[in-house]
Amino acid sequence: MTTTPVASALRAPELAALADSRTAHNYHPLPVVVEHAEGAWMTDVDGRRFLDLLAGYSALNFGHGHPALLRAAHTQLDRLTLTSRAFVHDQFGAFCAELGDLAGKDLVLPMNTGAEAVETAIKVARKWGYQVKGVADDQATIIVAHGNFHGRTTTVVGFSDDPDARNGFGPFAPGFVHVPYGDAEALAAAIDETTVAVMIEPIQGEAGVLIPPDGYLRAVRETCTANDVLFMADEIQAGLGRTGRTFACDHEDVVPDVYILGKALGGGIVPVSAVVADRDVLGVLRPGQHGSTFGGNPLACAVGREVVSLLSGGDLQARALELGELMRERLEALVGHGVHAVRSRGLWAGVDIDPAVGTGRAVCEALMERGVLAKDTHGSTIRLAPPLVVTAEDLSWGLDQLVDVVQG
Ligand SMILES: *Cc1c(COP(=O)(O)O)cnc(C)c1O
Repeated sequence: MTTTPVASALRAPELAALADSRTAHNYHPLPVVVEHAEGAWMTDVDGRRFLDLLAGYSALNFGHGHPALLRAAHTQLDRLTLTSRAFVHDQFGAFCAELGDLAGKDLVLPMNTGAEAVETAIKVARKWGYQVKGVADDQATIIVAHGNFHGRTTTVVGFSDDPDARNGFGPFAPGFVHVPYGDAEALAAAIDETTVAVMIEPIQGEAGVLIPPDGYLRAVRETCTANDVLFMADEIQAGLGRTGRTFACDHEDVVPDVYILGKALGGGIVPVSAVVADRDVLGVLRPGQHGSTFGGNPLACAVGREVVSLLSGGDLQARALELGELMRERLEALVGHGVHAVRSRGLWAGVDIDPAVGTGRAVCEALMERGVLAKDTHGSTIRLAPPLVVTAEDLSWGLDQLVDVVQG
């Protein structure tokens, strides 16, 4: 074990101050300065170790430096990294086929960031609406949920109802209709002849890991089918093993028309996102109608293929279920003792801190002092999303620290 260096020798405060002075303040990071990481553990520039209970908002589901993912990336780096989509490369078809098979869908359209995949899904839904459903030109609407988080582009923040995300960035694109999250009747009532799609998160991550009532996703599926409307599930944060199943929709045995994937799809190495759907939906796009220079690049596809391979065995999903049970039991014991409420599914939890204990931020700062990294959201909620490779022992230790912090 390393011992804590004397304060005057610490590099972290200096580097944190440099970062703070030379970047836009669109984030308020904890003042930890990470230098390297392995598995569920990160080490800062001063040699202090931290258990990562955020996992890059689920982008690091397989942990830091997963050997198989690193091997795939290193091998591909030496072979071929970029062609653009003007040419086909040898990883492209295999990635699309393997990810399509994992999701049970015909086609995959790879992009880079989550927000781009959401934008892509919106374009596909509109095109499908005009071309297949026969909606009148420029009239297509998409139903979204209150409290949604789908990314940061201007179209996407335009249908956010978080004032920080939205205010000051208008004018916004029209064509989005809001309904309360988790209310299947309100959703059915909002559908009219202009509706081309319903786009929701199967669990709202950014909103604080909000889990809809049982049966909601199934009802959404039935309503969409009955009304010839696409069900688009934004599984960017919820999907790829996080909840103990490959997709969060799997918990209700629901298959959406469109999966929107990102975050963990890049294995914590490169940004990889994708829209995954059957031919009758994604097939509406013709050459020139959509694109991305980096989307589906060889390095992304090689890493993405390894991600799919890691998930196809089901071991990581099983692990998320098992460790998730441990986490849920520990967290539920805290309700009424420094914690107001806990919501969890698999290895993913939203913990509402009792304001008497402090803000979510204060709790995260106290956790950092104890060698645990987590992130607050919406003032008093802490989101826990450990890498799925965390050991039961390390996870237990991390939760011990949370118990100590909230119980003073
Ligand atoms: C993170 C996230 C996005 C946006 O992904 P980026 O890669 O940050 O653009 C979209 N939807 C959900 C549900 C997310 O969690």
